[in-house]
Amino acid sequence: MKTFEDIVEFHGHSCPGLAIGYRVSTLALNELGERASDEELVAIVENNSCAVDAVQVVTGCTFGKGNLIFRDYGEQVYTFIKRPSGDGIRISVDWKSPEETDEEKRMWDRYMKGDRSEEVLRTVHDRKAKKINLILNAKDEDLLKVTKGNMDLPEEAKIYPSLTCAICGEKAMEPRARVKNGKIVCIPCFERSDEKRYGVYHERHNNEG
Ligand SMILES: [Zn+2]
Ligand SMILES: [Zn+2]
Repeated sequence: MKTFEDIVEFHGHSCPGLAIGYRVSTLALNELGERASDEELVAIVENNSCAVDAVQVVTGCTFGKGNLIFRDYGEQVYTFIKRPSGDGIRISVDWKSPEETDEEKRMWDRYMKGDRSEEVLRTVHDRKAKKINLILNAKDEDLLKVTKGNMDLPEEAKIYPSLTCAICGEKAMEPRARVKNGKIVCIPCFERSDEKRYGVYHERHNNEG
């Protein structure tokens, strides 16, 4: 089993979201068995927070393999299903972070206003560490609501032929191709009006402190 340190190494920092993901995925593996080397385990995650990095490292359900499915519901819910049996576990996170003290509130306020003084950073860091510790050491039943049973399996990842975009010359998989003025094009070329091909960046929304 992967350790919390393994996950921190992959993710780049230690944070409460990652700790939640660790608890969720270790519980799932304990209930369902082996880490996925191929596609025998599927994870369906309902948010794209830090926790999902823990899911990938611990369970082996990864974005690239296609056995990590993202449903953008903004919920702290994680479902793991075994192929081909359909045996699964649905885990909903039900955790309340402890009330902030007045001191912590004051320091957080200063932090949000850009104050990076040592006392502010220490308080913010300590609070984060306290949360991580609480999450890692909580009882399952105080942190996670679990439902087990037979569940519907999502379709397996498919391999599609590539088509060449008539505008930029890059390849796109067939189901993602679009038709623009009678020509087959990729989505960025289909959607762009005047902005450059690589001009649009998405801002990552990170909701896990
Ligand atoms: Zn994080
Ligand atoms: Zn294109």
